[in-house]
Amino acid sequence: MSRLIVVSNRVGPLKDTGRAGGLAVALVDTLTATGGIWFGWSGEVSEEGTFGNLKREGNRKVSLVTLDMTQADHDEFYVGFANESLWPVLHYRLDLAAFDRRLEEGYRRVNARFAARLRPLIEPGDTIWVHDYHFFPFGAELRAMEVNNPIGFFLHIPFPPPEVLAALPSAATMVRRMLAYDVIGFQTTRDAANFRRFVTEELDLVEGADESFLVDGRKVVARAFPIGIDAAGFARQATTVEARRQTHRLEKLLAGRQQIIGVDRIDYSKGLPQRFRAFERLLEDYPENRGHVSLMQVAPPSRSELDAYADIRSELEELAGNINGRFADLDWTPIRYMTRGFTRRSLAGIYRASRIALVTPLRDGMNLVAKEFVAAQRAEDPGVVVLSRFAGAAETMREALIVNPYSAEGVAASLQTALNMPLDERRDRWQAMFDRICENDAAAWSRAFLDTLAAARR
Ligand code: ADP
Repeated sequence: MSRLIVVSNRVGPLKDTGRAGGLAVALVDTLTATGGIWFGWSGEVSEEGTFGNLKREGNRKVSLVTLDMTQADHDEFYVGFANESLWPVLHYRLDLAAFDRRLEEGYRRVNARFAARLRPLIEPGDTIWVHDYHFFPFGAELRAMEVNNPIGFFLHIPFPPPEVLAALPSAATMVRRMLAYDVIGFQTTRDAANFRRFVTEELDLVEGADESFLVDGRKVVARAFPIGIDAAGFARQATTVEARRQTHRLEKLLAGRQQIIGVDRIDYSKGLPQRFRAFERLLEDYPENRGHVSLMQVAPPSRSELDAYADIRSELEELAGNINGRFADLDWTPIRYMTRGFTRRSLAGIYRASRIALVTPLRDGMNLVAKEFVAAQRAEDPGVVVLSRFAGAAETMREALIVNPYSAEGVAASLQTALNMPLDERRDRWQAMFDRICENDAAAWSRAFLDTLAAARR
């Protein structure tokens, strides 16, 4: 097996700190098997920025190699182009996107600098795997420095149709530069098809067999590789002492009432205000649930430097306050809204104490919370997933109750169905999803991607 170099904005951690997400775990396992480097941003802003020393940590098999950024890099590349232009456009939110050439130049500069700093570390047999929207042009930068190694790219977030993407002034340039990769991976068949349609319609290339293009005599594959979680690992977390303590605490508090759980970073793509309104609608349309069903929303703040994010926070606080003011009783609070983080184990315990996972993003690459909830359930008495049709997970989690997150009425009706679902049906739906999540776990995902990358170069 060739040595692997993983490139992503944030790297690590190498050790399971109890907080590491499934992706970090999967990448560490893969890197440990092949040996290699995980390269990205140190998380630090400094005056030298990308011109400073490379920071190295790690173990015998895997080195974490990171670089600082300058304040200007951070503002233009990370806050600016990545999070104020690409993130909204790729989540179909043209109304929130900032288009500014200065930000885009910062993005290109940081990509070029990072690629230049990685270049001397690349050996002829290495395989390079670049991750996510921070690094679209990274492969093209490496090719310009005569790197002929296999280079793959995986996009963790959605890829919109050409009609939406074309609003980004540099869309065609960006997509053309992506063709420097040998394999371009997406979360769903729809995202991959959107990409291929952009290439055929806007760049006038002809799509070949097996979801590929021929670019200057080189084969480029653009295909879906739906990401998985470390399902067995997460199921084990749910039975640890720490998880059981949380399950027990919650069950005692609930005293036979049902809990709906939502877990999301605060982000406009997650549809949180719509979710609160749908829960309110449940209490309005099906009053028998008053006093008996509550919504617990865990929503740690993210990217709080951006205005759009601060706005949602205050909107959520106001909505929760209004709904609680309207419906709460002496011994029952309808919405419990928390902005703290939890360890993986605690989270698993919380999922287990909940009857329903309410996962209603307006747009989401995959949504791992839906999968974690399934992995954490008790086989004998599992909960139900109410899942947005606009989450990538809806493509493979067909036994969830699929909803339109824009329809408060529709989501409320599905919640009511979930609350009254007979045990047999809950079990059947859960078992089918659990089996699929275990089979298509994070390890299977990285294997599938890297096998395709190896094959594309043959
Ligand atoms: P996104 O990547 O857009 O944030 P995902 O649902 O795909 O959305 O992944 C979110 C990850 O973050 C999940 O693994 C989830 O468990 C984790 N997470 C979200 N909120 C918390 C929290 N408060 N404490 C711990 N982990 C959290």
